[in-house]
Amino acid sequence: MSKFWSPLVNDLVPYVPGEQPKMANLVKLNTNENPFGPSPKVVEAIQAELNDSLRLYPDPEGESLRQTIAAYHKVKPEQVFLGNGSDEVLAHIFFGLFQHGEPILFPDITYSFYPVYCGLYNIESKRVPLTESFEINPDDFKQPNGGVIFPNPNAPTGMYLGLQHVEEILAANPDRVVVVDEAYIDFGGESAITLVDKYPNLLVSQTLSKARSLAGLRVGFAVGHPDLIEALNRVKNSFNSYPLDRLALAGAKAAYEDEAWFRKCCDGVISERERVTAALEDLGFEVLPSKANFIFARHKEQSGGVLAKGLREQGIIVRHFNKPRISEFLRITIGTVEQNDALIGGLRSL
Ligand code: PMP
Repeated sequence: MSKFWSPLVNDLVPYVPGEQPKMANLVKLNTNENPFGPSPKVVEAIQAELNDSLRLYPDPEGESLRQTIAAYHKVKPEQVFLGNGSDEVLAHIFFGLFQHGEPILFPDITYSFYPVYCGLYNIESKRVPLTESFEINPDDFKQPNGGVIFPNPNAPTGMYLGLQHVEEILAANPDRVVVVDEAYIDFGGESAITLVDKYPNLLVSQTLSKARSLAGLRVGFAVGHPDLIEALNRVKNSFNSYPLDRLALAGAKAAYEDEAWFRKCCDGVISERERVTAALEDLGFEVLPSKANFIFARHKEQSGGVLAKGLREQGIIVRHFNKPRISEFLRITIGTVEQNDALIGGLRSL
């Protein structure tokens, strides 16, 4: 705290991102990045954009990328909103689409950025506990609220909520925006984007950071009714009119144009996820059923904190949360075959 700080900053409790270590030789399985890397066509498209045009501002509407994403998801371009990573899209959603006076609802446990945005914008919230088996119960989202948000699959559990249950939540809240954060949807879940024309209160956010291997490029988007998108554009243009630079716009478009690469990465992650799950179960872990590019697992006897530390000493980083209910769990990103073998070997030796 300093005398120069605004009182608003004094009260902020910021998000703490997962560690990005400088050492290159670590087995990094802590921030759910994609081990396969972006499509070579993405790299080519970005290189082609490295020219004199960089002196010009990018298209503030990202029209060409919005058209590509809209065509891919069979919606109209005016139903697509772009942001600098889905974290920024979510920031605009919290500011622009949640009502004050009644608490917004999100699961407990979930993505820890949600309470941070509530603090930033002074939004009241209510955490809705997961069931005993770590599932989201749709019935718990039928109480009065100022809006609803949950990841599907949820993070850090990796557990997926079927679309019929998502629809139950949407139908129970016709006057409130329901946001489905689909950061991890491409690893086995079915997207709720197919429902946006049926439910004007539905907003789906997605990212290119995970399945499309572009966490470093910072591109996310939301899909929903044009009225919702218009609100998000108002917020964006009151904050940063050019959230995506020219390189990000070009690279993201190329990523959507290489479906074969995308499928190969997703299939690779899914098959490795099943292999790692079986190996960990053999080692005495309980692994929650995951449809994400990570698994959430606890050992029947050994402590999560001790295991995370033991792996770290072997140069393998996984995520451990010192929080009630989940402190015995490890969240482990699915890596390459070699990285996953190192993880399994590392755990076996502990
Ligand atoms: N939502 C969830 C549930 C996440 O886990 C993440 C990644 N940390 C994000 C959104 C944000 O992803 P990005 O900003 O890279 O698009």
